[in-house]
Amino acid sequence: MRVYCRECGSKGRITKTNRLSRDYTELYCQCNDAECGHTWVMGAGYRHSLSPSAKTTTQLAFQLMRALPPGAQKDLLREMEGAR
Ligand SMILES: [Zn+2]
Repeated sequence: MRVYCRECGSKGRITKTNRLSRDYTELYCQCNDAECGHTWVMGAGYRHSLSPSAKTTTQLAFQLMRALPPGAQKDLLREMEGAR
């Protein structure tokens, strides 16, 4: 991730990160220009997914399967086999 100093426009670097939650991290930044010396904090946050995690969808499918009554599980399995 590239960061820029808002004071002088030079490239900066991230010196430390502070993960405040699953979805939000604070980035401690420092200007690369020694004559500037600006340090600041930026925020990086989760916004939205573009495609779902395969891990999540598989887990969800298993959980839904387990929640079905045994008869319905068998019907679904039979249907899945037929679809191949
Ligand atoms: Zn600067």
